[in-house]
Parts: sequence; C-alpha cells; structure tokens
Amino acid sequence: MHADQTRQPANTDGGGPAPVVTCRGFALGPFETNCYVVGVEGSTACWIVDAGYEPGELIGAVREAGLTPAALILTHAHADHIAGVREVREAFPGTPVWMHEAEREWMKDPQLNLSANIGLAVTAPPPDATLGHGQELELEGTRWRVFHTPGHSPGGITLSCAEAGVALVGDSLFAGSIGRTDFVGSSHETLLASIRDHLYTLPDATVVLPGHGPQTTVGQEKRHNPFVRAD
Ligand SMILES: [Zn+2]
Ligand SMILES: [Zn+2]
Repeated sequence: MHADQTRQPANTDGGGPAPVVTCRGFALGPFETNCYVVGVEGSTACWIVDAGYEPGELIGAVREAGLTPAALILTHAHADHIAGVREVREAFPGTPVWMHEAEREWMKDPQLNLSANIGLAVTAPPPDATLGHGQELELEGTRWRVFHTPGHSPGGITLSCAEAGVALVGDSLFAGSIGRTDFVGSSHETLLASIRDHLYTLPDATVVLPGHGPQTTVGQEKRHNPFVRAD
C-alpha cells in the first residue's frame, strides 16, 4: 500500500539545475507505518527512513528503481518502525543504521519498543551510528538537518531538508493530530515543545511526512492542529 509521494525541487543557490528530492512513502504492516525511500532524481543513492512490519514492498521498490541505500535512518525505535530492520539489512547488506542515542537500547528491548505489548517480541541489532540535534547530513548534494523531537518517545528525530521544503517527522506530528504520549518515556509537554520549538519554526510551506496517515504542511498544522497551534 502506498502512502504519499512527494517530489520537491531543492532550491540550492549554486549554479546548474536544482536537485529534485523524492520521498516515496509505503504504509507498511498492521500499523500502516509510513516508511520512506528518500532519493534525489538522477542519483542511485537513497535513504530508507524507518522499516516497519512487512517491508517487502519497500525493498522491492528500492531494487526495482536500482537504488542503493546509503543508510537506514530510524525516526524512533517503536516496533512498528524497526520491525523490518533485519529484513532491510539482509536485502541490502552493509547498509548502516542511524538513530538517536536515547533509544539505542530499545532495539533489543521488547518492553521499551512496545512489541511485548502486541505479543511478538521484536528486536534489532544496535545502530551503527547515532544522530544528534543539529547534525547535518548529506544525500547526493542535498543537505538535511536532524532535529531531536522527543515527546512521543525520548529519541524521536525529524529529518528536514530546507532546500526541498520537506520534513520527515516520525510520530511526533500528524495531519490534524500529534503522537501518543501514553508510552514508556513519553511526555506530552515535551512533545508540544518539540513541535513548537522545532517543527513550527520551519517555513509554512514545508511538506510534513509523518509516520502514519497523510502528509500535511507546517502552515496547515500551525493554523488548524487541535492539539498544538502556533502561538
Ligand atoms: Zn511511535
Ligand atoms: Zn508509529
């Protein structure tokens, strides 16, 4: 099942044609977790962002497009976002896994990653590297910034490409909703602060790609989100 696909020209100030960032979403598994293949048109490197249950369709699409994952980046380590990590790594050996330090231990702990609650323990190998707030990443000439956006979970991150006007926000912010905060390590106040202090500081036109449900924009949520409006 397909989630949204976005195609965003990156407005770099250099000469030559602007790279076009593509984010292809796949709503995977019983929780319909949006997992994304992030690429740049004309390039063969991509990122896979989150690996939910039943990642076969995403893996097939990456293969079909002839892409090589440069990293598997996890927005957070809840089971519905990490259950497919092993399968993705088996499909693309050597792909490094990157995530925030705060949830490193969650990969091997079914209580923390919530898989114990659904009766089938999920574990995944530890990440190869951890990502921190403010860190810059580069994908085929496009620059991305990592925001630490905890609240739904303590190690939640957002990946934002300012040039392309797109942000992958995990389960922090949804179209018309916000992430649940009734889990271990969740904090409602922290989540509201993450959204206000980081996501709502992005330009209104920024396309928000959440971990579940349809895409939205920063401006739309600032004006209409019933849980957190811009001040
Ligand atoms: Zn989650
Ligand atoms: Zn989720």
